Amino acid sequence: MKKNFLKLFIIVMIFMGVFFALKERSERHLLASLVEIEISTINQWRINGGLTKAMNRGSVGVEVRLLQYFLANVEDNDFSHNLITGYYGEETSRAVYKWQEENDLTPTGMVDSKTRKKINEVYYSNLCPSSSGEYSSKKLAPIGKDIGLPKDYVPKDLVDITDRVKTIRHMCLTKEAAMSLEEMFEDAKEEGIVLAVTSGFRRNELQDIIHRSYIELRGNKAKDFSARPGHSEHQLGTAVDLTGESVSFRPVPISFGNTPEKKWLKKNAHKYGFVLSYPKDKKEITGYIYEPWHWRFVGKEHAEKMKNSNLTSIEYLRDLEKRSVDKKIEEEKKTEEDKKAGEDEEKEESFFTWGRVLGIIGHYVNENIE
Ligand SMILES: [Zn+2]
Repeated sequence: MKKNFLKLFIIVMIFMGVFFALKERSERHLLASLVEIEISTINQWRINGGLTKAMNRGSVGVEVRLLQYFLANVEDNDFSHNLITGYYGEETSRAVYKWQEENDLTPTGMVDSKTRKKINEVYYSNLCPSSSGEYSSKKLAPIGKDIGLPKDYVPKDLVDITDRVKTIRHMCLTKEAAMSLEEMFEDAKEEGIVLAVTSGFRRNELQDIIHRSYIELRGNKAKDFSARPGHSEHQLGTAVDLTGESVSFRPVPISFGNTPEKKWLKKNAHKYGFVLSYPKDKKEITGYIYEPWHWRFVGKEHAEKMKNSNLTSIEYLRDLEKRSVDKKIEEEKKTEEDKKAGEDEEKEESFFTWGRVLGIIGHYVNENIE
């Protein structure tokens, strides 16, 4: 009897062990696929440059998926994520109809050129949003693993750089950084160096998706090269990931460090205000492995000084910030002292005035007594 009970107990335990192991695996698998769908869909949007085709009932393909992804994510539309199938059926048509009605378009349930244009506009404004104007420029802010940015920080003057320089997808940067980058790319080209941008401004939400997917793929190792949301220089709108012709414009290639493009950048980038954020063998300081592709715009003056100082950008910018804080404290102190001195002078002056008045009265009194 006891033996049978023990057998049953062992069987139940094994069964439960297998059950929980499988459950955990399927949950992890679900998470991985979820992250993957989001990231690949967003990247597809960026690569495609939005919707490019007219769509109708019966249409199939990647663009239908992108449309459905959009419908499932816009507010006030009850199109469910389960309906993202890549097939344009009844439900998709109904959701498009509803969206058209709400956005002052002729409701047809079909994606015509006007609807497509409007959807792309919404999408682009999400990719390169306008700033709330709440924050001042963070161009020289030190950003690292332990120093972050406000989650909703968006720089003030983002511009689309897709038509200005060679990029592998739709992206934007601050106006100042974009102008300098354009100049740098043109000058490099004259010397036979062809550069391209693989990543520019990234809003916090996108950084979150990218970071989560790297963690899912590479585990804790991902933290050596991927920043947590709110801690990425890409959110500043001044950082770029570069690639070049010699590596067939592949994004973030480790081998970029040994290319003629990287050699050219090392010699010249500072003249255009760009610095390498994560140099070789500086992980202890920067928190990140060598990233020969990641450059940040800080302006010509500081880029030049940074190069001469041999400091990493985070050290330099921390120091700069500390000096500006010290300067502010010094100024504050000085104003306080000036104010105090002014008050003393005022007191003296009023005493002097009162003294004079008393003297005059005294004189007058004396005169009358005499
Ligand atoms: Zn980067």
